[in-house]
Parts: sequence; C-alpha cells; structure tokens
Amino acid sequence: MSSSFLCPDCDLLLSRMTYARGIRVRCPRCAHVIYPCRNTLNRCRAALLAALILFFPANIIPVLTVEVGFSSQTSTISTGVFTLWREGMPVVAFMVLLFAIIVPFLRLVIAGLALLPPQVLKRRGLLVMRWHHILEDWGMVDIFMLGVLVAIVKLNDFATITVERGFWFLAAMMVMELRVVQLMPVEQLWQRYHKFQVQSQ
Ligand SMILES: [Zn+2]
Repeated sequence: MSSSFLCPDCDLLLSRMTYARGIRVRCPRCAHVIYPCRNTLNRCRAALLAALILFFPANIIPVLTVEVGFSSQTSTISTGVFTLWREGMPVVAFMVLLFAIIVPFLRLVIAGLALLPPQVLKRRGLLVMRWHHILEDWGMVDIFMLGVLVAIVKLNDFATITVERGFWFLAAMMVMELRVVQLMPVEQLWQRYHKFQVQSQ
C-alpha cells in the first residue's frame, strides 16, 4: 500500500504510519483528525439514497410560477429546458439540461456505484473511481439554484413569482448532494479497491 496520503481537508501530503489503538492523530496543518478514520460509509450511502429519491420530485414537480399581467406560467426544470429551446436559446437550454439534470444524476449514480463493495464491480471499480473523481468538479445544482434565486429577485419588479413545492425538493436535493460530497470516504474507497486488487492477484 502507498506510504503517503493526502489530508482529506487541506490536501497536505502525509506519511502513512501504524498508530496504537485509542490514540488520536491530527493533521499538523489543519488539525483534521486523520486517525482513527471516521467511518462515513453508511452515512454517505444514506445521504446518497435521499438525494436520489429527491432527484425525481425536484425535476418533475413545478419549481416556479411566473405571472406577468394576465398570463402565468408554471415551470419544472425540464419544461424550462423546452421553453429555453423554443425561445431560440438552444445553447442555454443544453447547458441547463447538462448541468442541472444529466450531470447531477450521473454523479449520484457513479457515487452509488463507488460505494458498492469492491467485489461487486471487480476490475470496473477502478474505472468507477476515476469517473467519480472526474465528475467531482462538474455538479452545478448549487450554481443553478443561485441562478434561480437571482432570477426571482430580478424578475420581482415586473412579474409575480411564486415559489412552488418543487423548489424545496430541489433545495433539499442540493443539500443532500453536498452531504454526499462531504461524507464520501474517498481515501477509504481507494484503499478498499487496492486491497481487493492485491487479494485477487
Ligand atoms: Zn490537513
């Protein structure tokens, strides 16, 4: 096994040592507890399951109703994509589709696969871990959410905006996604795959 690892909080390169039981070791730079490792596997799985369940109502139930004069339109994220497309903004429509629907869903699926026992995925586990790493920087539900909030504030002067139930599902999904990122025991998962590879050779 590799003799060094990165602090999960500040990325400081640390040497792996064998510590006595009962001892608590902190990172010398940021004081993050590096030993004993907190086992966040099950909590991460629970947050992931919650995020996956919330994904569907967040995308199906209307998020906002915009009323201008006598006309009013209630939108879900998916109908928002269609509206943008119809209004002649295919690039924006594609970006919303990609970063607010496809990538967040893919991230949850890949995170779910990475959390499975290494025996299930066997050699494909390494590929899953790599994809998990690649997709880590591409989830933008939080930025999308910020965009929605800015739109609400900006449009408030000349339109009546009503926040619908879907908005709260979207917010809850965003919190759960952030929780999954926080709790993801990346170091522990890599170690598991390494151990599995060594054992199966
Ligand atoms: Zn640190």
